[in-house]
Amino acid sequence: MGSLHQRLGKFIQRHLVNKGKDKMIEKSKFPDASILLHPNIPKPLHGLAPRTIIGQEWWDEERYEAYARYGFCCHACGVHKDEFAHRKGILDAHEMYQMDYKNGKMIYLYSVALCHYCHNFIHNGRMAIRLKKGEISWNYFVDVLYDGFVTLKKAELPPNVFALMSYLSAESFAIEKRWKLPFWAGAARKSLEDNKNLFKQFSESADIEWSDWRLVLNGKEYEPIHKTFEDWVQYYNS
Ligand SMILES: [Zn+2]
Ligand SMILES: [Zn+2]
Repeated sequence: MGSLHQRLGKFIQRHLVNKGKDKMIEKSKFPDASILLHPNIPKPLHGLAPRTIIGQEWWDEERYEAYARYGFCCHACGVHKDEFAHRKGILDAHEMYQMDYKNGKMIYLYSVALCHYCHNFIHNGRMAIRLKKGEISWNYFVDVLYDGFVTLKKAELPPNVFALMSYLSAESFAIEKRWKLPFWAGAARKSLEDNKNLFKQFSESADIEWSDWRLVLNGKEYEPIHKTFEDWVQYYNS
């Protein structure tokens, strides 16, 4: 039964937080490689997520529901958690957002279950930072990106332009680099042209003040945790 506080929390979750979410999930297909086209989280909103705002109890329910939705398979590439070679038995949950670059808003939609590779592919910006710090190897970085680009290609989808930019930026600082620009990145570079629209929207968001960015969760807006770009650099590069 739980305390009044817990029951109230569940009520709020069912009726407010999840409002409209089920409809979006109904429309989702499996597997859906287009999840790998998820845009990167804008820097001002790094460190801010529904899981940290609503709390662990909500997040546990939200992510277990995502894991179970398609029988404990990665929603992007379809691999079952026990068949995934790189980190067997483990799925990650990822929060999906709709980006409004024009107004500087990132709107929470729902969560999906992802294998470790697909998840890191989406978080290619964070991966590039970890590479720079020496926390992951160049080979690992390239493997993850390669895998994601292949999944997208098989689904006849364009390459993720953010992942490509992360690759190109990493190329310039990777010391133990063993690959010259591989074939897939060459192809992806060409398709930058196809992604011009997204890229343009993304560039336009540069006009939005750092402090004006908002995470939108159930209609409520949340301000950046890192108040300036300098704070961000201090936090992530130290
Ligand atoms: Zn996957
Ligand atoms: Zn994620």
